[in-house]
Amino acid sequence: MPVLERVPLLEKDLKDYAAVVGDEVIEEIRTLAEPLQGARVLHLNATAYGGGVAELLATHVPLLRSVGVDAEWHVMQGSDEFFAITKQVHNGLQGADIAWTAAMQRVYLERVLDNSLAFEDEWDFVVVHDPQPAAILSFLHGSRLGVDPTKWIWRCHIDLTAANEKVWNFFRPFIEQYDASVWTMPEFVPNSLSTENIMYAPPCIDPLSVKNLDLALPFCEEILRQYGIDPARPIVCQVSRFDPWKDPIGVVDAYRMVREKIPDAQLVLAGSMATDDPESFQVWEEIEQARAGDHDIHLLSNLHQVGAVQINAFQRMASVMVQKSIREGFGLTVSEALWKGRPVVGGRAGGITLQIREGYDGFLVDSVEACAEKIIHLLGDPDGSTAMGEQGREHVRENFLSTRELRDWLSLFGQLKSGAAIASPSKSYGFAPEKK
Ligand code: UDP
Repeated sequence: MPVLERVPLLEKDLKDYAAVVGDEVIEEIRTLAEPLQGARVLHLNATAYGGGVAELLATHVPLLRSVGVDAEWHVMQGSDEFFAITKQVHNGLQGADIAWTAAMQRVYLERVLDNSLAFEDEWDFVVVHDPQPAAILSFLHGSRLGVDPTKWIWRCHIDLTAANEKVWNFFRPFIEQYDASVWTMPEFVPNSLSTENIMYAPPCIDPLSVKNLDLALPFCEEILRQYGIDPARPIVCQVSRFDPWKDPIGVVDAYRMVREKIPDAQLVLAGSMATDDPESFQVWEEIEQARAGDHDIHLLSNLHQVGAVQINAFQRMASVMVQKSIREGFGLTVSEALWKGRPVVGGRAGGITLQIREGYDGFLVDSVEACAEKIIHLLGDPDGSTAMGEQGREHVRENFLSTRELRDWLSLFGQLKSGAAIASPSKSYGFAPEKK
């Protein structure tokens, strides 16, 4: 029988984060972890590489371990056909009108059933991420693995504000079997979901990961040169999976408008090909066509050895970062850029609106024209851009670092263990800024 793939992890130590967030936060986390010593926690998702969920778990699971929780990260087994269907599901849940046929449903359920047969061990908490493995609990109900004392939590990373009814109605009964669900923002939770234990907790970035660590300027410049990017000229950059919802073609169109005013601007589009995202190669081709051989549009991916260090350097060296999504669960790339002190022009979508406070950390836009206009504005005002980036960095320090997420999860586990009603952290992340 196949077993779920266990993801190997780096070691992280919570105390290293004190220099970034202060001792008080570290103490609070240790207190929350006390009743959970030795608790067995499994995070289950669909890919170990590419995209925000993999990025989150690579830090979150080691941090759980560092506070005494016995945590593991497993990846379900899919197939090309399964991932083609779950990408359709993802698109449907984000509002696309897709066919959701009986044949697709069968492929989905059969594959999740296979995974449920490979599910092993006993856990105190199982956190299932996104729709790909969501139905697994329904196959384990009635077995010793699916019942008390294990608490099952579904973590939704997707923007469901305009979910396709057919697709959501298929998934809803599966989600309602969970003991709790965790969402990025209240707006994402469909009214029809009839469960009580709902927590809101936006994702976070790891300030100590290779992706976000400080890098020396000459090192960044050298990385840019290796990719043919001129560090002395203005750089506009978007880092994203190659996905239509991230609107890379809109970014190319906006860049073309920018260049009419600022002829030496360059565009970097860096994206990874996630293993559970079969659409990315097609989107890559579409961008290649839109790029039309323009040497100032740098289209790069993990296939060009673009990894965490390179992404770090691109974000750090960008004059303006862009995340022009049309729908967005959270958009870790926004916090990644703000943490590096860069202002961000973002699509007014989902979690991006939590991270960008209009006019303080960057700008929210609804069109290609507005995107171009804000990029031009920021390129013309380097001092203002730096000031916005600095404000953005503090906004991220307060709200979107891994320590905050660790605290939220520990408090959820503690509440589920004690049988208390689930209280979402009272903090409002999209608060009005105090200073400019
Ligand atoms: N990412 C990366 N390399 C790339 C493109 C993206 O490492 O070429 C990372 C990016 O830095 C971020 C994550 O993938 O950490 C994307 O997360 P986000 O929440 O922005 O979007 P998602 O892919 O989850 O929709």
